[in-house]
Amino acid sequence: MIDTHSHIYSEEFDSDRREVVENAKNVGVQKAVLANVDAASIERLEKTQAEFPNFCLSAMGLHPTSVNDAYIVELQAIKENLFAKKYCAIGEIGLDLYWDNTFINEQQTAFEQQLRWALELDLPVIIHIRKAFAEVFQSLQKFRKNMPKGVFHCFSGGIEEAKKAVELGFLLGIGGVVTFKNSNLGAIISETGIDKIVMETDSPYLAPAPFRGKRNEPKYTREILQKLATVFSVSDEKIDFITTENACKLFNIEL
Ligand SMILES: [Zn+2]
Repeated sequence: MIDTHSHIYSEEFDSDRREVVENAKNVGVQKAVLANVDAASIERLEKTQAEFPNFCLSAMGLHPTSVNDAYIVELQAIKENLFAKKYCAIGEIGLDLYWDNTFINEQQTAFEQQLRWALELDLPVIIHIRKAFAEVFQSLQKFRKNMPKGVFHCFSGGIEEAKKAVELGFLLGIGGVVTFKNSNLGAIISETGIDKIVMETDSPYLAPAPFRGKRNEPKYTREILQKLATVFSVSDEKIDFITTENACKLFNIEL
C-alpha cells in the first residue's frame, strides 16, 4: 500500500515518529508521500524525508490556506526548493474558500503559478479543494491543452465533480472520509472506478472509523483499503494492487 498524502513531519508525531513509520510498514504500507504546506514547514519536511529515505517521498508546494498578503515571498521559497531538489509532486496546492475568501485572487494566482511549474518540471500535482470546485475547474480550464497529471486529494465533491476530474485525467485521493457513516463517497467512486483512485490518510487529520477523531497515521491506510474492498466488492489484494499501481504511475515511484 502507498499512503499518497500525509503530514507525519508535523509536531503531532515528534514523540513517536519512528514507531509510526514502523507500524505503517508492519501493516504493509511501503511508502508515504509527504505534502508540504508553506515555507515554515519545509525544514520539518526535509528532516523527516532524510530520516526515512526509503519510506518517505516529498512533495513541495504552497497550501491555499497559507496564501495571504505575503504569498509572493512564500511562493519564492517554494520555487527555490522545487527547482533545486528532487520531489515526487507539487503539493499541496489548490483553493480553499471554506474559512474565508479574502485572498481568493491570490489563491488562484498561486495555484496557477504552481500548475505552470508542474508542467515545466514534468511533475504531478496534489490538489486541495475546499468549497471551491467551480473555481478550481475554472483554473484548470486554462490548462486544457496541456494539463498536468495529478490527484484531487481528499476528494470531497459529488458525482459531477468526480466525473469532471477524471475526464481531465486526474485521480481521486480517498481517505478516512469514505469510512464515515454518512459519507456518499463510496457510491461516487464505485461509478468512477478503482482505476481512478489512490489511497491516502492525510495524517494527522481525518482518521478513519473506528478511530475517527483520533490522530491519524499512515498505518490506517489499511482501514481505508478494507473499506474500499467492501465498496467495490473485491478482495483487499485487488484494491492494494490497483491503488498501488495507480500511485506508482502518478508519482513515478519504484518499489
Ligand atoms: Zn494535507
